[in-house]
Amino acid sequence: MSIHAPEYVRQIAPYQAGKPISELAREYGLQADRIIKLASNENPLGISGPVRDAMAATVAELGRYPDSNGFELKAAIAKRYGVPQEWITLGNGSNDVLELAAHALLQPGCSAVYSQYSFAVYALATQETGARAIVVPARDLGHDLGAMRAAIAADTRLVFIANPNNPTGTFLPADAIAAFLAEVPRDVVVVLDEAYNEYLEPALRFDSTRWLGDHPNLLVSRTFSKAYGLAGLRVGFGLAQAELTDLMNRVRQPFNVSSVAQAAAIAALDDTEYLQRSYELNREGLAMLQSAFDRMGLEYVPSYGNFVLVRVGDAAAVYEGLLRAGIIVRPVGNYGLPEWLRVSVGLPGENRAFLDAFARVLGR
Ligand SMILES: *Cc1c(COP(=O)(O)O)cnc(C)c1O
Repeated sequence: MSIHAPEYVRQIAPYQAGKPISELAREYGLQADRIIKLASNENPLGISGPVRDAMAATVAELGRYPDSNGFELKAAIAKRYGVPQEWITLGNGSNDVLELAAHALLQPGCSAVYSQYSFAVYALATQETGARAIVVPARDLGHDLGAMRAAIAADTRLVFIANPNNPTGTFLPADAIAAFLAEVPRDVVVVLDEAYNEYLEPALRFDSTRWLGDHPNLLVSRTFSKAYGLAGLRVGFGLAQAELTDLMNRVRQPFNVSSVAQAAAIAALDDTEYLQRSYELNREGLAMLQSAFDRMGLEYVPSYGNFVLVRVGDAAAVYEGLLRAGIIVRPVGNYGLPEWLRVSVGLPGENRAFLDAFARVLGR
């Protein structure tokens, strides 16, 4: 090998995305418009009319760079969450926000803590800085916050928590997170990744942004990719006090969120009807999938997100059988869960088509 790259870069296992519809169509000679993708926790409703209009209105301006500071989108977020604009970081998806935190805080010789079976990007964001990963064994496929607190070392700079977690769908209640925040050393940053927050029942949906005032080491991360339905546009945001926000801004690409994405996100924040519809559709879809798994006698993790992790045994074979039926779900062998598949909630007809094919493939 002639190119000099750090060993920690060579060691990275690249992210494995859900199979794109166009790829399955090409590989299996299927008709793209008949393929059902339940593999990337996307919103099956697609983008709403008002968001489409807002995007179209920005097209004429695309010859210019976007607003690097995202003034209008930050104003809308500040108003929604009751935080100052200086506490907001916009990201090219919330994936970008997670990486900004890693790049601002980690380097070789320090460490980040995250849970076994938590979101794959935490490992990537840590490894690409040369920092050491401290992976804490999961409890019941979810975060063990006591063990995570105990795992924090003298060189730990960052802790990642996904709530709800992907790919397992587990959830930590407010008092557990609050107790964790109270115990973590003040110089260790806690990233609370709430990509699926909008899918929680109102009774469970605590306002984590209220902790920001007391915890200068807290970063709350949210996305427009899931319940807001804008996965393809790449826009998310982080909320943290000014010192941490300023550090992240120093390692941010100047134009990391396009003008189309900024306009769409503003419109999406306003479209409360769409958000409510997404929520309700997801409740119904989750109930449909989980009660079918119950009837089939399959083990699954009761989910707080827009997907379910279900245990099928030889997941690679079941995945393959579903692909042949034109249905894409997500194998999670890369997470160390080779017997499980993750199935995103789709439209009612898509869920039914999946369940039919699933029963056939499993021979039940
Ligand atoms: C989907 C997801 C994200 C973010 O996705 P973006 O599209 O980059 O905003 C972040 N965290 C978790 C746990 C996710 O599942």
